[in-house]
Amino acid sequence: MNSNVLNFSGGPGALPETVLDQTRTAIVALPETGISVLGMSHRSGWFRSILTEAEMNLRDLLGLSDEYAITFLQGGSSLQFATIPMNFATPAYAPPEYVTSGYWSGRATAEAAKVAPRKVAWDGRETGYRQLPELQDLDINPSAAYLHYVSNETVEGLQFPLLENAASVPLIADMSSDFLSRPFRSDQYAVMYAHAQKNLGPAGVTVAVIRRELLERIPDGLPAILDFRTHISHGSNFNTPPVFAIYVLNLVSRWLRSEVGGLETMQAINVRKAQCLYGALDAMQGAVSIHAAPRWRSQMNVAFTFGDARLDDAFVAVANERGMVGLEGHRSIGGLRASLYNAVTENAVESLADALLEFARRRA
Ligand SMILES: *Cc1c(COP(=O)(O)O)cnc(C)c1O
Repeated sequence: MNSNVLNFSGGPGALPETVLDQTRTAIVALPETGISVLGMSHRSGWFRSILTEAEMNLRDLLGLSDEYAITFLQGGSSLQFATIPMNFATPAYAPPEYVTSGYWSGRATAEAAKVAPRKVAWDGRETGYRQLPELQDLDINPSAAYLHYVSNETVEGLQFPLLENAASVPLIADMSSDFLSRPFRSDQYAVMYAHAQKNLGPAGVTVAVIRRELLERIPDGLPAILDFRTHISHGSNFNTPPVFAIYVLNLVSRWLRSEVGGLETMQAINVRKAQCLYGALDAMQGAVSIHAAPRWRSQMNVAFTFGDARLDDAFVAVANERGMVGLEGHRSIGGLRASLYNAVTENAVESLADALLEFARRRA
């Protein structure tokens, strides 16, 4: 029994139907062990094999070399906002630099300041967080500990294009809302992190990919749980990890590899979805405005408004009647937002585009 509801939520987001089917079975009894996944020991051989496979799938999808460690963490991306400066903004380097391009990078920038001196490399406030900078044009201190940015601003619907050239300082990216949505040059990053609940699985687990040489910078004396080395040396099994969330993340990584066929195909599908929705919005000729300036439109989150909260609410109601949910904009900017994460199907996006066009025609 599958649900007919089309989920456009900003997060937690939609998951693939086949993953939900397997998860339902696993909650009652895992085929491999006869025990519910919710009661499986994190010290079991079964869980060790899940961790191994999830890491292998991510390595394969990202084309990662052995220079990188992968670890599964808790505390969401918000904890990374604190632990990254604790681990990597050490006094041996100039202050880390932060790109503030929207809601989530703003949170990262604010949290870092509580841990270490940090510099704001760019702030999009003056233009209302509708644009992004060209990363390679920023004036970054060559001895900065690192440059931090958010690859896709989930709330405002802004996405950085893929990087052409490696940055001059270690590059750290919060990829929470576009991780595994397209292929990219993973070797250009010092650290990539993404919680699962937008594109990879349920809430409760965050993936961090760290270039091993960076681990040498970590100061001694951090609480063990906040020190990346602890989690890496314990194979993501230092204290009780979120077994269920990692189990589902592994199913999603398997789905991406074997059902979707990898990130190239995922990207092609995501491009078509985004073209379908932006195409409809553009065709509505001024009835709606899209938050992002055209060059920075996100493929994952489309933030827009009819320019009137009553109209936005009316559209949400019409969409709900047709089984489309999760379209309310983030509380910080209001309006509407359609999130087109990997598991959102092309059919779902076509339904949304049709509903928008029809709504606009009726109002015209
Ligand atoms: C949703 C989101 C977050 C917040 O993550 P939590 O896991 O809730 O802490 C951080 N960064 C980005 C880019 C997000 O989209």
